[in-house]
Amino acid sequence: MEREKITSPGDKNKVLLHSCCAPCSGEVIQAMVSSGINLTIFFYNPNIHPKKEYEIRKDENIKYAQKLGIDFIDADYDVQNWFRRAKGMEFEPERGPRCTMCFDMRFERTALYAYENGFEVITSSLGISRWKNMEQINESGKRAAAKYPKVEYWTYNWRKNGGSSRMYEIAKEESFYKQEFCGCVFSLRDTNDWRKKNGKGEIEIGKMYY
Ligand code: SF4
Repeated sequence: MEREKITSPGDKNKVLLHSCCAPCSGEVIQAMVSSGINLTIFFYNPNIHPKKEYEIRKDENIKYAQKLGIDFIDADYDVQNWFRRAKGMEFEPERGPRCTMCFDMRFERTALYAYENGFEVITSSLGISRWKNMEQINESGKRAAAKYPKVEYWTYNWRKNGGSSRMYEIAKEESFYKQEFCGCVFSLRDTNDWRKKNGKGEIEIGKMYY
């Protein structure tokens, strides 16, 4: 397939990609690989609940990285730290302040790893999802990168030029695990509430695949 060549800020060839899951990162990874960008996947998502869901999402991402021969950094599941930061925001809606905290926390760790390991560009697969507010994500990414000299957050819109539809095509080709809620225990609760109101059963962890 013909793809448009993309270039990272400053044409830096070493990029640290914060990945939230295999389905969202599939297209982002392929877009970078086809442009000759040398990327490393950084998996730091202590928001994901329960642990079983976390392990499934991570394993899917590891398998795909191995298939493509891409380095994968498995960071801490410091879930207690995430809950501490989420305190008082348990009933905030998606795209609200709890999500800003969640993006900040994940990008802060990504930026620190980048700084300590010689990556000058970081970016994320989070923004490819149409359920997310890209501006909110970009602001968090830029805030985190600004803490370190020479680290920049790449605000590329991975949805454009067919990226959104290719994301689903890749997920189907690879039969990725299909998560049915954003990730945290509060999003699981709210999605289940919505499902109940719409006559659907509760989410079954580990059940759905593309
Ligand atoms: S809804 Fe998603 S982005 Fe928002 S706090 Fe929960 S896991 Fe994080």
